[in-house]
Amino acid sequence: MSIGHNYTRELRQLDDRHNIHPFCDGKQLIERGSTIISRGEGCYVWDSDGNRLLDGMAGLWCVNVGYGRNELADVAAKQMRELPFYNMFFQSTTPPQISLAARLAEVTPDGLDHFFFANSGSEANDSIIRMVLHFWKVEGQPTKRHFIGRNLGYHGSTMAAVSIGGMKPMQDMHAAGHEILPGFHHIGEPHWYRHGGDQSPEDFAKSAAAELEDKIIELGAENVAGFIGEPIQGAGGVIEPPAGYWKEIERICRKHDVLMIVDEVICGFGRLGEWFGAQYYGVQPDVMTMAKGLSSGYLPISAVAFNSRINEALRSGGVLSHGYTYSGHPVACAVAEANIDIIENEGLVERTREETGPYFNEVIGQIAADHPLVGEKRGAGLLAGLQLMQDRGSKTFFEAGSTAAIQCRETALENGLIMRAVGTAMVLCPPLTITRGEIDELAEKTVMALDATA
Ligand code: PLP
Repeated sequence: MSIGHNYTRELRQLDDRHNIHPFCDGKQLIERGSTIISRGEGCYVWDSDGNRLLDGMAGLWCVNVGYGRNELADVAAKQMRELPFYNMFFQSTTPPQISLAARLAEVTPDGLDHFFFANSGSEANDSIIRMVLHFWKVEGQPTKRHFIGRNLGYHGSTMAAVSIGGMKPMQDMHAAGHEILPGFHHIGEPHWYRHGGDQSPEDFAKSAAAELEDKIIELGAENVAGFIGEPIQGAGGVIEPPAGYWKEIERICRKHDVLMIVDEVICGFGRLGEWFGAQYYGVQPDVMTMAKGLSSGYLPISAVAFNSRINEALRSGGVLSHGYTYSGHPVACAVAEANIDIIENEGLVERTREETGPYFNEVIGQIAADHPLVGEKRGAGLLAGLQLMQDRGSKTFFEAGSTAAIQCRETALENGLIMRAVGTAMVLCPPLTITRGEIDELAEKTVMALDATA
């Protein structure tokens, strides 16, 4: 028997005995037991009891093309038969790796034509730190060693990624007191609803970006290697900067010769209705991180895009002493390229920009306008955050330890919808293949969950 209560009970026992869950409170897990997902098709997944769940999170902001894509399985099987793996570094590579790099150059913003492959978003960002430090050394500016990130920025779980990210609980895990590696600094997150006070969104955009310039001046521009940010901060609660913010960040980075590094792990591959979030905000990064939607999560793969200035320095700078056994894994590369073909052939970027994205925003925006528990809807395209409020009239936020969002998430799950609780906000990031009918279902179940929480 592969579905049902006994099967689930047995799996949970084994899980409890042997499996360490990432990002999970072990005690809560024992009380509640894992949700075990065993199958997926389109925008739905099924748990081991056979319950069908609408996946409002595309797995973990990943499955842009939806579940059950036989063509991706076929590409993987073909490549596995032909050449499952090869990497010797030095002067070798494989056809899928070359082909994916060339294909990425077609869809990434102009000027970002050179790619380094890794396996996860964390590794990609960690690679950026090492490669950018190397770049500045080759350029003859070895003092440029400091990086600036943002509060509530999420860039992954490796030591460097945690340090450049702004997730305090992650930084506090090893030792009390916000422990990070040296050389990493943070500015505030551009969340107007929470921090804007009396300022207009336009003025707040300028003052939030000015924090970057203040920090660069404090550290000395000759010491600052790069600024890193997500176009819209995902795991921080879908924090959408006000209009003008990114343009101002770009201006400041250029002025001080600080590299602008944009982490597109969530926003890339159509999520905001453009191929990349940088295009949505009309800015030109020097470096860009990609993962998740790159393969729609079908296989682990990530990439870093560099501009030609950095590429030339990397090429002329001697041995690049950096890389992973699975950098440019041929099966993952073949699947990623086929995934990009699906996004393009099915017009998923345009569909998100012109049809599903606007409808999703209208429907979720209406929930935010109507529901007394919600203070604000954030996000763009098929990415949304709903800020839960203790009292929206007086703009009183829930305390940080409030369980309201967790309660909302659990009720949604009982009603067949997967959404995520981030702090005191609910977040949604469905597959880009979602239909209007499925958006209606998602909205209806979101309201049910909010009603039960209020
Ligand atoms: N960057 C961003 C913006 C992310 O959202 C994530 C993961 O959620 C990462 C980096 C880390 O990616 P991974 O979990 O693949 O290491």
